[in-house]
Amino acid sequence: MIALKNIIKKYTTKNGPLTAVDNVNLTINQSEIFGIIGYSGAGKSTLIRLLNGLEQPTEGEVIVNDLKFSHIKGKELREARQKVSMIFQHFNLLWSRTVAENIAFPLEIAGMSKVEREQRVQELITLVGLEGREQAYPSQLSGGQKQRVGIARALANNPQVLLCDEATSALDPETTDNILDLLVDINERLGLTIILITHEMHVIQKICHRVAVMEQGRVVEMGDVLEVFQKP
Ligand code: ADP
Ligand code: ADP
Repeated sequence: MIALKNIIKKYTTKNGPLTAVDNVNLTINQSEIFGIIGYSGAGKSTLIRLLNGLEQPTEGEVIVNDLKFSHIKGKELREARQKVSMIFQHFNLLWSRTVAENIAFPLEIAGMSKVEREQRVQELITLVGLEGREQAYPSQLSGGQKQRVGIARALANNPQVLLCDEATSALDPETTDNILDLLVDINERLGLTIILITHEMHVIQKICHRVAVMEQGRVVEMGDVLEVFQKP
């Protein structure tokens, strides 16, 4: 379970203090696909950075799987962060490495042996449907294939939570649908919690169970996707 309790995040800017997240309360259940939607500047990316422990809130608590991310440091925080993975709009792949090497990268960092790594990479390649592309470089892949590499890499170390930051925003509609289908499949097979931020309503409508609508740092609506989007 993930909980954000009375979260306030302020930044200091040259024009004075700016409240990016303004008293947000959210609970996200295990194995849920939860969407956060809002226009640019609403505070979505800031929330994601709080959820992966990259930033600390100014006030409030961030709890991920019983650990208070907002109140741990150092080794404990680094270990906790390994259970939270992320995929990105522009994929953030290593361009000088092959598909297999990109996927193996987090396994290498985690200290897995070469033999185990090769087996794990093969499992992940199958899971995301990239069989035969192991030795390709990112520049040789379509956008959808690049995101499949991003997903495989994110899943390498068996995270409990997958954060998706505008993960389909650079893709055409058909490829977007394919990637969303893959995320649903992974959610059902592995039971991991998926949190997805986007400015695209159809992405939320297609796969999310619940949604929070953000405006100017606040959650202005929250509930089942059907309820939130079918109001008159
Ligand atoms: P979104 O992801 O919904 O576009 P953000 O979380 O990126 O929203 O931004 C929310 C607000 O916080 C914006 O006004 C943005 O300019 C500001 N902001 C985000 N990150 C920083 C930062 N590191 N320093 C100062 N202001 C920031
Ligand atoms: P897409 O258009 O599918 O979103 P891009 O090809 O634009 O992805 O790549 C995203 C980022 O990676 C860009 O910043 C781009 O400059 C960089 N990039 C793309 N191809 C290479 C490459 N072969 N070597 C190094 N960087 C690259």
